[in-house]
Formats: sequence, structure tokens, C-alpha cells
Amino acid sequence: MARYLPEPYRIKMVEPLRVTTKEERSAAIRKAHYNLFGLKSDDVYIDMLTDSGTGAMSDRQWASMMMGDESYAGSRSYYRLMDVCDELFGWKFYQPVHQGRAAEHVLFPHLIKKGQVSISNMHFDTTTGHVTLAGGKAVNSVVPEAKDISTYHPFKGNMDTERLVELIEMYGREKVGMIVMTVTCNSAGGQPVSLANIRKTAEIARRYGIPFVIDAARFAENAFFIKEREEGQSDRPIGDIVRDIFKDADAFTMSAKKDGLVNMGGLVGIREDEELFRKARSLVVPYEGFVSYGGLSGRDLDALAVGLIEGIDEDFLRSYIGQTRYLAERLTELGVPCQLPAGGHAVFVDARAILPHVPYDRFPGHSLCVELYREAGIRGCDVGSFILDPDPETGEQPEAEMEFSRFCIPRRTYTQAHLDYVATSLQKVMADSERVKGFRIVKQEKVLRHFTAELEPYE
Ligand SMILES: *Cc1c(COP(=O)(O)O)cnc(C)c1O
Repeated sequence: MARYLPEPYRIKMVEPLRVTTKEERSAAIRKAHYNLFGLKSDDVYIDMLTDSGTGAMSDRQWASMMMGDESYAGSRSYYRLMDVCDELFGWKFYQPVHQGRAAEHVLFPHLIKKGQVSISNMHFDTTTGHVTLAGGKAVNSVVPEAKDISTYHPFKGNMDTERLVELIEMYGREKVGMIVMTVTCNSAGGQPVSLANIRKTAEIARRYGIPFVIDAARFAENAFFIKEREEGQSDRPIGDIVRDIFKDADAFTMSAKKDGLVNMGGLVGIREDEELFRKARSLVVPYEGFVSYGGLSGRDLDALAVGLIEGIDEDFLRSYIGQTRYLAERLTELGVPCQLPAGGHAVFVDARAILPHVPYDRFPGHSLCVELYREAGIRGCDVGSFILDPDPETGEQPEAEMEFSRFCIPRRTYTQAHLDYVATSLQKVMADSERVKGFRIVKQEKVLRHFTAELEPYE
């Protein structure tokens, strides 16, 4: 039986949710042109669209915000955040920015030149975007196990290091601008990367003299998985493992909206290259604001300083990752197929297996999410063919390797009863899935169309 761990916190403040009827939801999704991003959040009961910036802050974080120093330059809040970064990562330079993509924006142009490539286990989509904006090309090299959703592997986010070497040799060392390790590997379902694999990748980067960057959005979750699954790590404090993750890298970018436990924020870290740090800062001033606030209020910097410490608390991580695991196990018990083992922040339901009669160009992952919303007011999103833009030349719809419906778990936000409701609602939708016929797109933009596309159901 799936086991739910009791939470290491209790509720002090509540945010009431609106309970809607099926008729109201049918009308709301029709009005949103069957795009889940078009719904008003008031019409959503359990929102699992993303775990990014949607978690709950603690009483300590809220209290710290009252101490925020809003000075334009040299704010106390900035120094408090710098002290915490020092303690966690032990590097020389850090720069706050307003979110993860801003970190990419100020750092990548100094590492990637026109015509170069960036090689990663898997680039997140904004990461690919900023590599492209810098004139480069993003190439992924995740282990093949990442794509096998039914077989157990402890570190499905690992870099395929043999392939990495092949790629470097193929492009030539001088054409590779950087190597990026995404921890946990978001685009592979929040799957972790082992310390051994991080070390091996760093060694290859050093051998070829290529900068090694960590995309650190979920560094704390990754450390927890290392503690739980990697040999020789089970007795070590999370903080020590975090230091080891960062030990051999040259720079990191971080969206603090995930493991930083804040609603908005980000960081750039640079181990020791002062020149690189100065270059990154030169872009912070015009794009983010003065260096001691980086696009954030003083109070935001304080909330982040506390959030980073709370985010590596082992009891919190066990409970949070335990929620994801519980939902995946509960779904498996109910016969709803999903990616196993579950990653850190989301459960990926196999929509192709549930809707085998809906072809990829009618978007099974999206269709399942719409049905679940109508049935139960739960909002997930497609990670399949719907999020792949049509080929710019032929206009053809590419087919994704997997058709998933993704359900993210916001941190410290929902209870076991909410997750049970998600599981039984999915079971119900699955039992009555034959009438789902899929969708056609009637309006779309050329790039990242899934956020704004308008759709129509097939009857
Ligand atoms: C969220 C995320 C980003 C981008 O961060 P934002 O805060 O959304 O701009 C980059 N990389 C990974 C792995 C992420 O999960």
C-alpha cells in the first residue's frame, strides 16, 4: 500500500478554494478555448500546472520579510542572502536576479558564442531559449534509461558521458561553449543525477577546458535522492552533499522558485572567475537593476535567504518527495500508468496508454488534462506532442517520444486528501476514456504555441 508520510509542518493560515460544479467547469474550459493556461485560477480546485513559485512560504519567511531593507544599494537583505549562499555553496561570487531565465540571460552570452553548442543532460526550455538567443545550439545527452518509463533506474537524469565525449570530439572542443548539468533533470521528469555522474562530467569538462555549469533549480531534491540512492551517501547531511554537487562546477544558474521556496527569485553563482562575474554583472544592471537587488525587493532577498536553508531540511525534503512518490504509487495501485520511479516535483501520467485511440496529432496528454479538469477541477498540463511547435518550414506537427500529462506538486501546499482526490479522479476519467476524441488547434503562435493556442474538440 502506498504510504503517506506525515508532514513536518502544520497549517497556520489557509487560502480558501472555490468548489465548482461540472457544468461550471465545462463552461470555463470552453471559454478558455480548451487551453488550460487560459483558465482563471479561481475556476481551478487543485492546481498542478507547475511547482514553480507556487509553494507556501513558512512563518519564518514571512517574518523575515518584515526585516527587508529596501535600500537601493548595499541593502542588509542582500548581505544576509550572500552569507547564506556562502554557507551553502562555498563559492566566491553570487548575483541575485528575478528568476531562473534572468540568470541564463546575464550569464550565457559570455559562455556561448555564435555557432557554438551547449551540451546538457537535458536543457530546460528557457535554457534552450537563452542558448539560442546567444547564437548557439542546445544539444542533449541524457542516458537512454530516461526514456524507458517502466524500468527502474535510480538516476535517470544522468548525463550519458560516453555520448558527451563523442559529441565534443564530433563538434571539436572549441565549438563547445559550455556543458550544463540540470539537477534534477526537469525535462526527463525531475529525475536525479548521481554525484558520481556529476564528477565524471566535470572531469570531462576539465579535460577539454570547457566551462561546467549547473542548472540548479532543484539542487536540494537532487541531494536528497543522492542521499537515498547512491552508495556511501546515506549517512551524510544534505548540506554536505549539496557542497559536493557544486564542488567541481564553474558557474550555476538557479530558479529560486523551486527549491529556494520563494514565489519569485533567482541566482547566478560563479566559483572564482572574477572576470566572468564582472561580465555577468554588466548585464545585470541594464536588465535586472542594481547589483545588490537584482530585480527583487529587499524583502524578497530575505525570504530567499530563509527559503534556501529551509529547502535543504531533510524532513521537509523527505515529506515533499514523499508526496510525489505517494501519488505515483497510489495511481499505480489504481491501475493508472505513470513514470516510475517518480521524480522529485511531478508525476507524469502515460496518456498514450490511457488514450490509445487518440493519435499524437490530436494531443492525448492535453486531452487527458482537459477531461480531468472537467471531471474534478484539477489542472495539469501536456508534456507531449502538444508542447512541440510545428516545423517552421513544413508546418508539420512533430510527434513526441512520450505523451504525458504532467501533474506538479507545489511545495507545502496540498494535503494527502487532495492527492487521493487526484488519484481517484484520474482513475474515474480513465474508466470512461473511450469517449475522449482529442483536439485540433484552431489558432496558434509560431513559438511556444501551447501557452496561448486555441483548440476545438473532435466530436
Ligand atoms: C524553472 C526552471 C528554469 C527557469 O526558471 P524560471 O524561474 O522559470 O525563469 C530553468 N531551468 C530549470 C531546470 C527549471 O526547472
